[in-house]
Amino acid sequence: MHIDIDKDLCIGAGQCALAAPDVFTQDDDGFSTLQPGGEDGTGDPMVREAARACPVGAITVSETAG
Ligand code: SF4
Repeated sequence: MHIDIDKDLCIGAGQCALAAPDVFTQDDDGFSTLQPGGEDGTGDPMVREAARACPVGAITVSETAG
């Protein structure tokens, strides 16, 4: 699974960090960013919840083979 955050869309609502705090956090400017090692948390079912929770749809979760 691959997580992509479109920082041009992100408005810093923080919903993703609330939904999946092990995977998303907010940077110094309040925009969403992956936690260190956050890609490792892609098996977390809350990642999809976070993508849904994002009000601007900035989070894309894509399946990767393997
Ligand atoms: S929920 Fe969406 S808009 Fe809010 S911080 Fe996360 S990526 Fe950005």
